[in-house]
Amino acid sequence: MARKTIIEECDVLVVGGGMAGTGATFEARHWGRDLKIVCVEKANIDRSGAVAQGLYAINCYMGMQWGENQPEDHVRYARNDLMGLVREDLGYDMARHVDSTVHMFDEWGLPMMKNKQTGRYQREGKWQIMIHGESYKPIVAEAAKKSADKIYNRIMITHLLMDETNENRVGGAVGFNMRTGDYYIFKSKTVIVAAGGASHIFKPRAVGEGMGRTWYAPWSNGSAYALPIQAGAKMTQMENRIVLCRFKDGYGPVGAYFLHLKTYTQNANGENYEKKWYNQTKELVGEYIDHHPTPTCLRNHAFVQEVMAGGGPIHMVTKEAFQDPHLETVGWENFLGMTVGQAVVWASQNIDPKYTNPELTTSEPYVMGSHATCSGAWVSGPEDLSPPEYFWGYNRMTTVEGLFGAGDTVGGSAHKFSSGSFTEGRLAAKAAVKYIQEQKANNIKVSDKQCEDFKTMIYKPLENYTVGRNEITGGTVSPSYISPIQGLQRLQKIMDEYVGGISVNYMTNENLLKKGLELLDWLQEDLENVGAEDYHQLMRAWELKHRTVTSQCVTEHTLYRKETRWPGYYYRGDHMKLDDENWHCLTVSRRDPKTGKFTMEKMPVYHIIDEKEKKEAS
Ligand SMILES: Cc1cc2nc3c(=O)[nH]c(=O)nc-3n(C[C@H](O)[C@H](O)[C@H](O)COP(=O)(O)OP(=O)(O)OC[C@H]3O[C@@H](n4cnc5c(N)ncnc54)[C@H](O)[C@@H]3O)c2cc1C
Repeated sequence: MARKTIIEECDVLVVGGGMAGTGATFEARHWGRDLKIVCVEKANIDRSGAVAQGLYAINCYMGMQWGENQPEDHVRYARNDLMGLVREDLGYDMARHVDSTVHMFDEWGLPMMKNKQTGRYQREGKWQIMIHGESYKPIVAEAAKKSADKIYNRIMITHLLMDETNENRVGGAVGFNMRTGDYYIFKSKTVIVAAGGASHIFKPRAVGEGMGRTWYAPWSNGSAYALPIQAGAKMTQMENRIVLCRFKDGYGPVGAYFLHLKTYTQNANGENYEKKWYNQTKELVGEYIDHHPTPTCLRNHAFVQEVMAGGGPIHMVTKEAFQDPHLETVGWENFLGMTVGQAVVWASQNIDPKYTNPELTTSEPYVMGSHATCSGAWVSGPEDLSPPEYFWGYNRMTTVEGLFGAGDTVGGSAHKFSSGSFTEGRLAAKAAVKYIQEQKANNIKVSDKQCEDFKTMIYKPLENYTVGRNEITGGTVSPSYISPIQGLQRLQKIMDEYVGGISVNYMTNENLLKKGLELLDWLQEDLENVGAEDYHQLMRAWELKHRTVTSQCVTEHTLYRKETRWPGYYYRGDHMKLDDENWHCLTVSRRDPKTGKFTMEKMPVYHIIDEKEKKEAS
């Protein structure tokens, strides 16, 4: 079938218009007044990404103007929460700029809550400030729309184009419009990937009629990882998946409950179960259990152990706080801003938290680089902070020339959240413009053949379906193709059972991981035969392919790190203890684009912040 092809040439191409993508689009215009800036989004940037529904708090704000926190404090906080392993150059760089981002949100009209006594932003916790955030995403989208030459909505990017004169330099991206089916070629001097994290790679707790209900955005399908991985970019800390403790069945957030409402957890007998697991945890991780605040994974660990020991269900004690009418209102409003579904779940289960303590649970694992976890691309840091192993010319550039990342895409720098992701988008865009201005993007060659080959590949699932359905004599199951949902469930089962998901209480080991890799290989092969009956299913097919590549990378990393660094996120049953002697390092992988094989290496962790202070003191 003849298909329309649209070719767009630009200087800066932003893939994904979520928090990081809108930040990148906005900042690219500031530094590149005369450049052509294009943002391509799978949904519609007004309501896309993890912040689509809104947020109730901005989780990363230093408050430097009031002396509340300094970037150094944030680096120490993130390092502690990630059990010692973060890229401190990236974290510091984000933290020193994040306040200016939040001040712009304020100027742009985001309703911020203020402390009536001090006039400062209302704190929810040490790092969080409270907002009326239903309009958060449309506000940042407006800034991007005013900055871009063009925003393309409803286009899913499936592949990066590569320069044919330098195989390690990017040349743009291709994708398709999910409504019209048109093929889009974006030839670009630089590409900033800001395509969010990865949900639905592990089997979710919500299956059957609840399928699609996840904690992280269900449409975050790992493109942020698959695109750079397939282009041969190095990745880091992909084993560091995150498991969240959330209100059961609705995945409602607990941050405001702990921090603002001062609610607390207890087991079914009303006991503080966390204390019970102190000695056992100390055996596994040593002094890390004595750190303050207790690292998120270790709190999860106590939860998981208590449930396995028969102490469940675990409850959030809300009955006390909800006696205060103000706190009761805050408790409910917390969901209205971002997870209204939790209130609906409670209504359906007859739970009024004023009279019944609601249940908590631990989620299936997710992969992302902006929340309390740091999976993602291995990128260059800023020139003034980064040691040689962390610096190769342009801030937030991956190991592929001209290919930048921001937000969930970037590894090693946890706790950026919405404001930090927008900030990182700004940093990446500034560097991308510099890369162009310094003539690093000259003479990129992308042939028609490369674009035509991708076109054939992208639409193949439609072809598979059109041909294969003729073989079906009854029902919907084809002997020749699998549907995206069948492929997704197969992927989730492999990841769940072999790579440490919910049904095995996050446990895995070398044998399981090797078997998982083998099964993922078979799945990859079968995905050549995925069938799509329409453009929406074509999107599902490509989401699945991106999720599968991401999963392979996660599994390779999990196999490589021979210790249990983050009990509560996952366990290596054959190496149950944290091993600082051998594994106080970052893991880095690269997939060879020609062979599809991964190679792994260790990279040093530099505690830059404290070393800097020691030097200044001496
Ligand atoms: C449930 C939940 C609660 C959170 N709570 C808070 C909070 O209270 N406070 C806070 O500060 N932060 C919070 N966060 C974190 C915050 O939302 C993220 O840190 C931030 O959105 C990450 O930015 P990003 O741009 O990397 O990803 P996103 O904002 O998710 O944007 C990614 C974008 O890429 C698009 N995309 C994906 N694939 C493709 C493709 N192939 N082609 C084109 N486009 C594509 C997506 O549609 C999306 O628009 C929360 C996140 C979640 C999920």
